[in-house]
Amino acid sequence: MKSKWPQRDDLPVVLVVLDGLGDRPCLSLGGRTPLEVASTPALDELAARGANGVHVPFGPGWATSSERSHWVMFGLPELAFPGRALLEWVGEGGVPPLGTPMWHLAARRGEQVDGVMRITGRMGLQHSDIAHTLNRILQEWTEEFFVDGVSFSIESLRLGEWVLLAHGLESIEVSDSDPLFDHMHPWMLPVPLQECVIAGGRRLVEAQRTADALKAYLLGAHASLVCAGLEITVPTTKWPSIAGQPLSFLDLVGVQGAMVTSSALYRGLARTLGMREIDVAVTAEDAGLGLSARVQSAIRLLGEEQRPDFIHVHTKAPDEAGHTKKPEAKIAAIEACDAAIAAFIDIIDRGDLVLAVTGDHATPSEGLLMHSGDPTPIVVVAPEQRKDSVREFGETAALSGALGSLRAADIAPLLHGLARRPFFVGHRPGASIKSALPLSPIAMPVPETEPIYLVRPQIMKESSR
Ligand SMILES: [Zn+2]
Repeated sequence: MKSKWPQRDDLPVVLVVLDGLGDRPCLSLGGRTPLEVASTPALDELAARGANGVHVPFGPGWATSSERSHWVMFGLPELAFPGRALLEWVGEGGVPPLGTPMWHLAARRGEQVDGVMRITGRMGLQHSDIAHTLNRILQEWTEEFFVDGVSFSIESLRLGEWVLLAHGLESIEVSDSDPLFDHMHPWMLPVPLQECVIAGGRRLVEAQRTADALKAYLLGAHASLVCAGLEITVPTTKWPSIAGQPLSFLDLVGVQGAMVTSSALYRGLARTLGMREIDVAVTAEDAGLGLSARVQSAIRLLGEEQRPDFIHVHTKAPDEAGHTKKPEAKIAAIEACDAAIAAFIDIIDRGDLVLAVTGDHATPSEGLLMHSGDPTPIVVVAPEQRKDSVREFGETAALSGALGSLRAADIAPLLHGLARRPFFVGHRPGASIKSALPLSPIAMPVPETEPIYLVRPQIMKESSR
């Protein structure tokens, strides 16, 4: 006889993330944002059919990277982030050794001004001719380096980027040497993090060892590249990472997860979290940079008998367009995304899906800022979601929506709640508090044969003697 358990009426969740979607009012657009100027009939339709609000991932003013906001949006705010260098490497097929500290290492062009090194550019296709030489020099220096029991190795990620692995170090608690904000900061000295300084003891000793080793390694690599007469001479480190035990999205969040991805970072995220991974490469013909194909993949997943409960669909297009600092480019990227998202309109008519569209951070398309903490609109359409009066998808319209202002940590609980599997506060079906009512808690291991129940436990008698 077929079991009548588990009984389920919960719904799948699709979270579409338009990377870097939010923006600031643009002078060149008369104070509107690219999203507000873009023609977005599909997103406006979703806004009219659902509830709207603004997504401020870590609170007003906090600019964030994509990986950090994704980690929290997925429902993992309490879990230590393993580091982006690791995610990128795993996404490229790397198998990180457990417990080995690693960093993202990049080669930049620099110029010494007033006693500090200013970063003036990164490696591009125009440097393909020196890539081989640069790689060889870096390899040679890496093999040569052995100081205070510490050695390094490098693994290539892509042109001018590597993963730098440290052997003989324990701590990754040091600051970045990569300025990230090249227009303001120079090439920087790695120093122990403040929390290590406060903690003192062995933690500080190990962090100081790491800082000293990185300083020696980076200065030596710089000297080697200068001596070779190369145009690219400044090695920079960021994204400290350390590989831990394998993770399970099902255990951590409570449901089966899938990601429709297109880049190493997101492939790495899916692999690291034990999520199903569907990689849909970017094609030149697709103006939405692959989003149409990814949306179709997500729709196919929804139709599978063993469909995932949570599906993440991502596009980098609005963020990349924002980084060009041309608002028109971002308008075009958003319009292409809108055309791709239109495929969901028919699906939501069936009333068996929770769909959310938002961004992971704002990418101002004017000025010098890379990312900003400005609000990004979020729309959520679900059969039991109360609608609001918002009729268009945009930064200003979203302010009057029913969802108000959401943090990244609110998103997974909100969506799983609408999917009829909210985590019940005060109930502990397992060790951890999850973002969703878990689908597979650990069952009591009842013996398969019945008679054992008829035997009165002897332990009770013996202990009461
Ligand atoms: Zn960006």
